[in-house]
This record gives sequence, structure tokens and C-alpha cells, in this order.
Amino acid sequence: MCNNYDNKNFRILIVDDVSKNIQVVASILKDDGYQMTFAQNGKVALDKIHSHNFDLILLDVMMPGMDGFEVCRRLKQEPSTKDIPVVFLTAKTDTESLVRGFEAGGTDYVTKPFNGVELLARVRTRLELSRSRESLKVAYRELKKTNEELLKSQRKLELAAKTDTLTKLSNRRDIIEKIENERIRFERSGKPFSLVLCDIDNFKVFNDKHGHDCGDFVLVSVAEMMRGKVRKQDGVARWGGEEFLLLLPETDLEGGRILAESLREKISCNYYKYDNHNLRITMTFGVSSFSECVMNIEQCIKMADEALYEGKKRGKNCVVLSIAEQPSILKSVSEENGNERP
Ligand SMILES: [Mg+2]
Repeated sequence: MCNNYDNKNFRILIVDDVSKNIQVVASILKDDGYQMTFAQNGKVALDKIHSHNFDLILLDVMMPGMDGFEVCRRLKQEPSTKDIPVVFLTAKTDTESLVRGFEAGGTDYVTKPFNGVELLARVRTRLELSRSRESLKVAYRELKKTNEELLKSQRKLELAAKTDTLTKLSNRRDIIEKIENERIRFERSGKPFSLVLCDIDNFKVFNDKHGHDCGDFVLVSVAEMMRGKVRKQDGVARWGGEEFLLLLPETDLEGGRILAESLREKISCNYYKYDNHNLRITMTFGVSSFSECVMNIEQCIKMADEALYEGKKRGKNCVVLSIAEQPSILKSVSEENGNERP
């Protein structure tokens, strides 16, 4: 089976209280080139096992003090030694002794007086099994690692498929899925949810005046501000271009208005420093709410969109509510005047 080069890597501990027996076993095994260590009682054997790594233990049963069964039992109780195969060397071949040996955790036995061919065959088989087991362990570990890496990449891909690259907000696809989930929840609980569609006012001016990097800076700043202001359960998405869509679960129209107004105020009261310029950013908001009167998600988004459009018409930097029951759109917050445009 294995060549001598491989066998040099195998370490065998031979335990017997009779040194003559150890010599006999060693002389039978020596041509296979194993590394052999010896012990003449159970205590010394256990000490050696704890300080060295063995691939196989040939263990005499009848020894003064601690017998082979006890040594084996102790090895099997310890996680670090329980997997080392133990082959008993025994003169006793009665069934009771053999059963005791296997119960103690032994994997095999060889009878005294030793038959050289049999002893060699059993040792070789045991070591071959250990080697296969070791290879399987390595293969399993590698497989597990590969699997974990695959899962990690898969999670990254899934996240990337749902995320807007620039702002790291949800993308359109992800927010639609979340709104759909919220609609299903609405059907069960009857609790309305609201949508806020908002758009950066005069966004084109940032790009035209300071370049596209400035445009990106404005988008990222607005995204960060919104993410910091909303609740954990709210969804914030880049809807496209300079437009954002917020999903506010279990929030009625008035709740949507309050949040939109706080966002509007927060943005317009700040200056955003870009390349020695103090930028003033304002946004217009359209708010709609999903209730029994709203047919579907598309309609709810459209209502927010129309409210947003109305806000733009009325001078920007404002929040406009869409009322499902009546066709006219009510403007609830008036625009601030005198903003410094970028
Ligand atoms: Mg003995």
C-alpha cells in the first residue's frame, strides 16, 4: 500500500509492560519505516499521547496499574485524543474480553503471540483508513470554505442588485418590492402606508455650474441626510436621476406630510460645502397614502408624482399632499422665498 516515504510521516505508539513484546512488534513493523515510540505502562503512555501526535496506538491489555481498557477509555473521553485509532494487543480472545475492548473504544485487536503478517496487515489497514479520513476532513474543510465564499459573493450580488451604486440607497426594483410587501400587509391589517416622491430643485444647475462630480456630491449628500432622518422601518430609494422615493409603513397622509416637511426643512436650512462653494439645496415633495380608495401601487406612485409636479409648478421647495378622495391636490406647506440658487 503506502510507500516508505509516506510511512515516515506515520507515528505509532507501542504500549506493553513486557519489553520483549515491544521488541517483537517493532521488528515486525520496522521495514515499513514508521516512526515508533514506546511506553511500558498506562501512565507513561497517556503522557506521551498528550505531548505528541500519534496516528495509531498499539495497546497491551494486561498491564499492572492501569490496564489497556482504562487507557483507551481515557483517550476516548478527550476531544483531542478520541479520534486516534487504538489496536489492542491481547492474549485474551474470549468474547467477553473482545467486547470489553470494543466498548472501551478500541477499533481492532491483534492476538499474542503475534503473527507478523496479520499484525502488519492490520496496522497498514488502520493507517490507510486514518489517511483517508484525514483527506476527507481536509476536503470537507475546503468545501466548507468554498461554500462560505460562494454564499458571501451571493449575498454581495443580491445586495448589489438592490442598491443604487452612487447613493447606496435602495434602487427602484428594491423599493417596488418593499412597497408590494407593504401593500400585502395593508390588506391584512388595514393600516395605511405613505409614499413620498421628492426631487432636487434645479438639479441641472449643479451639474452645469460645477460639473458632474458636484451633481454626484449633491445626490449623495441628500441620500445621507434622508437616510439619517427616516425611521428604521422606512424605505429610501433613488427613484431615478435626482428623484427619490420614500416608503413609510403604517403611516397616514398626515404622518407622511410631517416627515416630508422635516426633510424639506432640514435640507433647505443647511449649506453643503463643495470645492469652496456653499451649496444651497432645496427639494420638492409629493406625498400620497395607500388606502381603500387607492386601486394599486402604480396609482399610489402616480398620485405622489402628480403632487410633486404640482409642487414644482407652485414654486418648488414645498410639500404637496395628494388626496385620493378628491381630484384636486392640496398644497400644505408654502415655499420659502429668497433662496440662493446654486
Ligand atoms: Mg501485558
